[in-house]
Amino acid sequence: MSQQQMQGQPMIILGEDAQRMKDKSAQEHNISAARAVAESVRSTLGPKGMDKMLVTSLGDIVVTNDGVTILEEMDIDNPTAEMIVEVARTQEDEAGDGTTTAVSIAGELLKNAEELLEQDIHPTAIIKGFNLAATQARAELDEIAVDIESDDHDVLRQIAETSMTGKGAEQHKEHLAELVVDAAQAVTVEADDGSTIVDLAFLKVETQTGRSAGDSELLNGAVIDKDATHEDMPTDFEDANTLLVDSALELDEAEADTQVSVTDPNQIQDFLDQEEKQLRELVDQIADLGADVVFCQKGIDDMVQHYLAKEGILAVRRVKRSDIEFLREVLGADIVSDLSTATEDYLGSGSVTRDEDEGLFYVEGTGDTVHGVTLLLRGSTEHVVDEIERGVQDALDVVGSAAGTGQALPGGGAPEVELARRLNDYADSVSGREQLAIEAFADSLEVVPRVLAENAGLDSIDTLVDLRSAHDGGEERAGLNVFSGDIEDTFEAGIVETASAKKQALSSASEAANLVLKIDDIISAGDLSTEGEEDAGGPGGGMGGMGGGMGGGMGGMM
Ligand code: ADP
Ligand code: MG
Repeated sequence: MSQQQMQGQPMIILGEDAQRMKDKSAQEHNISAARAVAESVRSTLGPKGMDKMLVTSLGDIVVTNDGVTILEEMDIDNPTAEMIVEVARTQEDEAGDGTTTAVSIAGELLKNAEELLEQDIHPTAIIKGFNLAATQARAELDEIAVDIESDDHDVLRQIAETSMTGKGAEQHKEHLAELVVDAAQAVTVEADDGSTIVDLAFLKVETQTGRSAGDSELLNGAVIDKDATHEDMPTDFEDANTLLVDSALELDEAEADTQVSVTDPNQIQDFLDQEEKQLRELVDQIADLGADVVFCQKGIDDMVQHYLAKEGILAVRRVKRSDIEFLREVLGADIVSDLSTATEDYLGSGSVTRDEDEGLFYVEGTGDTVHGVTLLLRGSTEHVVDEIERGVQDALDVVGSAAGTGQALPGGGAPEVELARRLNDYADSVSGREQLAIEAFADSLEVVPRVLAENAGLDSIDTLVDLRSAHDGGEERAGLNVFSGDIEDTFEAGIVETASAKKQALSSASEAANLVLKIDDIISAGDLSTEGEEDAGGPGGGMGGMGGGMGGGMGGMM
């Protein structure tokens, strides 16, 4: 907004209430915006959750059940609602799974906080109580968690399956879960201190459309979705010396662009000869190194392609940076930027196999120090394979962290109900208004089993009553199995989650709620609802759009 416009609207400074909100009305306003977003993803929670279809402003369609994807695609332009999207992002980055859980808990925390505010409890007391509760809950989770061995294939598979349930690969869930665990175990290394690390840097996930998800496979090494640059090049090698280059195999830009003025036709020929000589030199350098195969991140000049083919060398160009870096691990090679300084030490070794039907190269390392596996996911269409990939990525993250931390949890709301029970006990030991906030926090966690039941078409109140009484009776692992509709030991039933994702969900939910609660004053430039429209409500309607500022991209939401 320009200086001039600011001067033209003195009502901002005078506190015209359309432009500025303070204290209670600011809090109410923010809470309802944040809750609206949180509630929009709740219906996707759990295996029986629904999917959402999102239509972007360009008309692209995404069908998904994944919390963070929904929120990312929703094109939310309200600042408080953005904070909730941030919860999902943090959860996705830190834990890889549990985004809907985190967002649902954040929404419920705010709903309960609103009631406390109505009872004139100061936001500072609520925030303090929420912090105490979150810290306590995380500590209790360590006690509730079940210790598992990092190579316990069965439990890890159940964790993968639980995380993938309801994510569009139902029919092939078991196969995919096996692949996820095999993949994670293939890249599991033992650290110097004896701890287990699942190093996902050595694992690449590739997608391919056209076949069934059941044909997905785990491959040793890398898959490169490119063709040979020249049709006369050999494409299959059992044991090749491989060279990775991240610069163009062309003349330097500067040289190629140089303007030459010639006075004599011979000079043109000289110039062309000179160019060819330089290109020929590049090829000689590659051949002298003893390379059989070149993977190049940039372009390769036609002349270079031609000479390489003559030398019987396979060259692949415009390979993605991430693939070049992965090939470095797979082949035990170093990446070359300047051929003139490269030595044999830079080469890697491996087999290269061409799959002409699929247009892929399979590359497998043959040295001792090589690692790396590729999870090749297949699906009939792009929508299917994309949703499968999101599910598999979540599963890889949770399997990795379960193997790393050695902790798992029963699912189906069991930890939430158990934590609520323990937090209510803990609240008794805290005096003052913080006690009420801790109880509100406990209450908020029960949103998880409640919504799981709701989404499965079960009575949520009955379910919660049954769950509470099971936990009061000492059944720590009692959760809801939405497939049988029964309250049972969900760990035994194979519904297994990770403690790390749950801990992260508690932290990110309470941090977001606290952020929203801390705001007691909104000063807006006044054009939030009218952006891109013709004077929607005059100056008085300046903030009307904040409560539901998520129009745009959500046109097709179901
Ligand atoms: P999030 O984005 O939070 O991971 P999901 O849609 O993946 O959301 O749902 C996760 C929740 O679903 C967890 O609470 C998990 O325990 C629960 N869940 C998974 N499988 C079952 C099941 N068979 N019965 C009941 N709850 C389940
Ligand atoms: Mg999940």
